Amino acid sequence: MILKPRTVSTELRFLRHLSRRSMLAEKDVLNYSNKEKGLEGERRFDKCLESLSNETLILHDLLLEHGSHQFFQIDTLMILQRVIYHFEVKNYQGVHYIEKDKWYRENGVELTNPIHQMKRCATLLNKFLQPLHIPLPIKSYVIFIHPEITLFQAPRHLPIILPTQLKAFLKKLNSEAFSSKPIFTSKHEKLANYLLTKHMEDFPYTRVPEYDYDQLQKGIPCCGCSAFLSFFNKGKLVCRSCGYTEAAESGVLRSVEEYKFLFPDRKMTVNSLFEWCGKVVSPNIIRRVLQQNFKLISKGRSSYYV
Ligand SMILES: [Zn+2]
Repeated sequence: MILKPRTVSTELRFLRHLSRRSMLAEKDVLNYSNKEKGLEGERRFDKCLESLSNETLILHDLLLEHGSHQFFQIDTLMILQRVIYHFEVKNYQGVHYIEKDKWYRENGVELTNPIHQMKRCATLLNKFLQPLHIPLPIKSYVIFIHPEITLFQAPRHLPIILPTQLKAFLKKLNSEAFSSKPIFTSKHEKLANYLLTKHMEDFPYTRVPEYDYDQLQKGIPCCGCSAFLSFFNKGKLVCRSCGYTEAAESGVLRSVEEYKFLFPDRKMTVNSLFEWCGKVVSPNIIRRVLQQNFKLISKGRSSYYV
């Protein structure tokens, strides 16, 4: 049972919007691509977990703080009757190797050791849960989810699950879940609730690339590719690059949400949104979308929506 679904982080939302409307600096492009890739891997793992029995309590993407300012993020936490599983998901692709406890890509670039990362998290999680006095052991694993990973020189004792082991591992989890009936007691619920209430939506020091309204490209982004949509006819928007089509209203609404997210302090007026949408749809359509989805604050000529 999924108690907390996975969500797109605020940082990634910023990067998604800004990457199509501006030229990101190289380090931001890299960060953006890593974040998308990480999320893709986590979602692939989530899909695998869907096959598990309902006798599991699953929480995705927990951001917690132990003591003061010791933040740690858990990709997936799974509570069973007698054990808590903690998973760190890695979407590494291609050849990797380990040498003297250090991890490298094929080209020799060193990576942050995922086992150290996972252990740090496990230690903090242990401390974090201590006040609850719940006597459940925590088992931590790094899950390598990409089918095209090759990992040379990995010692056999490492707490990792490679793609070729995943099926058997899930089967083992399932049998553990089934053999543990009767299922959850108040102690499990207390644990899950504690985690849910302590979870923080956003890392307090999230760094977002600087941006400026005038420098962002205006228009309605396509959902199928990285291009912008143009107005076709009969209320339709079309992408000249990939052929995607969409009702003008829904495209406008998406762009309005984006505007609100990027510029929470700017007023939403028909004119400002007309410009933001690249003037591809008429002010009448913009007005209709605003009227249907937002509240009009009427101040004569300077009316706006909230
Ligand atoms: Zn497109």
